[in-house]
Amino acid sequence: MSEVAPLRGNGYRDTWCGDVLPARVDSEVRVAGWVNRRRDHGGLIFIDLRDRTGIVQLVFHPDSSGAQLFELAHKLRAEDVLSASGPVVRRDPETVNAELPTGEVELKVTGAELLADSETPPFQIEGYAGDASEDVRMRYRYLDLRREQMREALILRHRVVAAMREFLDREGFIDVETPVLTRSTPEGARDFLVPSSQQHGSFYALPQSPQLFKQLLMVSGFERYYQVARCFRDEATRADRQAEFTQLDIEMSFVDGEDIIEVNERLLAHVFERAGGPKIELPMRRMCYDEAMGRFGTDRPDLRFGLELVDLGEALRETEFKVFRSVLEGGGSIRGINAGKREMPRSELDGLISRAQELGAKGLVWAFREGGGWRSPTAKFLSESELTDLNQRLGAEEGDLLLLVADQRQVTDTVLGQMRIDLAERFDLIDPEANELVWIVDWPLMEWNEGEQRWDSLHHPFTAPAGEFDPSKPGEARAVAYDVVWNGQELGGGSIRINRADVQEQVFAALGIDAETAQARFGFLLEALSYGAPPHGGIAYGVDRIVQRLSGAETIRDVIAFPKTASGFDLLTGAPAPVEEAQLRDLGVAIHKRKLAGH
Ligand code: ASP
Repeated sequence: MSEVAPLRGNGYRDTWCGDVLPARVDSEVRVAGWVNRRRDHGGLIFIDLRDRTGIVQLVFHPDSSGAQLFELAHKLRAEDVLSASGPVVRRDPETVNAELPTGEVELKVTGAELLADSETPPFQIEGYAGDASEDVRMRYRYLDLRREQMREALILRHRVVAAMREFLDREGFIDVETPVLTRSTPEGARDFLVPSSQQHGSFYALPQSPQLFKQLLMVSGFERYYQVARCFRDEATRADRQAEFTQLDIEMSFVDGEDIIEVNERLLAHVFERAGGPKIELPMRRMCYDEAMGRFGTDRPDLRFGLELVDLGEALRETEFKVFRSVLEGGGSIRGINAGKREMPRSELDGLISRAQELGAKGLVWAFREGGGWRSPTAKFLSESELTDLNQRLGAEEGDLLLLVADQRQVTDTVLGQMRIDLAERFDLIDPEANELVWIVDWPLMEWNEGEQRWDSLHHPFTAPAGEFDPSKPGEARAVAYDVVWNGQELGGGSIRINRADVQEQVFAALGIDAETAQARFGFLLEALSYGAPPHGGIAYGVDRIVQRLSGAETIRDVIAFPKTASGFDLLTGAPAPVEEAQLRDLGVAIHKRKLAGH
């Protein structure tokens, strides 16, 4: 039964379609909705009428409904909008539809009104077989959203957000809105800019997150803040992301990392429960960043299967094999995985090599354990004792497929971390029922950016170092930061923040942000930190991702009412779109046409 009664005394309906159940037999009801399907059956016309709650079968009979209504029924087409009334009757036993909650009854129509008619939809709504391209679905999103699967996804989304609000409200968090027209918040992506008509040449930035505002709210003494906030990151379109997305953003004062993790575990357990997700055992598992990188090559490890990475540098320290040797001498690493007992023809092994190259490796060494050594093109370059040692470290048994990458540590991790997942999918090693939630903790504060020759924050520049910060050794500083990962997907992450202006200045300096730039961009934050900022920290979750995972949808676009394409187009409204010259003049903006290659 639907929990909400339709409006009383309403001329369109007094009962939801999904509520026309056997208990209503012999009563009169009025329903309204869309024609899901029409069938003509030897003098009778059956209409499946659909509203948000379900489907009910209407029967038009030339005698009991009358000629006029029967004529109307005859003209009805899929997606026409109809209001109909009449007695609820039991269906003949042979016509009962066990698939539908309303399948034992039908409504014998004695009154009906066509409220709106519909063009033939560009794709079938009822019994949609996934045959429309996603572009067409997005172009006609309002029709796509009529489909049950989409409706269910958005209702689940509503449940998830409602559960978040319910929990946080109960725990004393206050929902505060922060500006969308603001200054840049550095979360590592490109800003969307909005030109000011008042001050030509000046721009607002859309927030990449409410990070600085939520910290200011802690300085103001709100203690516990949350917001379901829209964030904007103009990223070169990465796989399955949206430039505009929703965060559940949280911040708390007078807390340490443990306090934040504790509240958030309970929050997640509550949300999963309300959304019908898997049961979360508390406390959740924890893993240090270094361990995650070491064993899985990623800070988002999928713990549902093994195939762990193994460091092999020690076994090859004295190797004569030039390729390995030069990598080790250059400070790189040699790492490998044991993919287990596999048969693979040469062509597929070549496929693995191409995949490794696509992921950034120069090459991939493959080998099958055979007796005490290897069957592999590389075997001849390695000594017997090296092979024995490698086999031992990799736990290799007869016939096991071994994959090795030698490169800078970042490359070996990225490549093997991803190949581990590829292999698990390919060999079906992931138990679909398994659920592994883990907090990744104890992060480095900064990482060296080789390309730019500077230190970058792993989270953002406002993350607090653990203990004293030594500006002369930024690479050694750890952060009080935590990410929560579910089956290899990051759901959210956050940190304890810097609450002292002097430490914030030191961290800016270590990141190569000079004092003048720091003042210009973040002067307001430094100033606020000088007026008594409590110790504080927080976290933000990707709401779209959480809902996607809970719903089992394939992309986050399927849990967003009006998403954009992977390349950022809104196919429904046609945004982004050119604007009038006069509008640009008003804003003081001139367009430089991008030169086409070869011109
Ligand atoms: N602002 C951070 C982010 O968007 C989350 C946080 O540190 O609370 O990832």
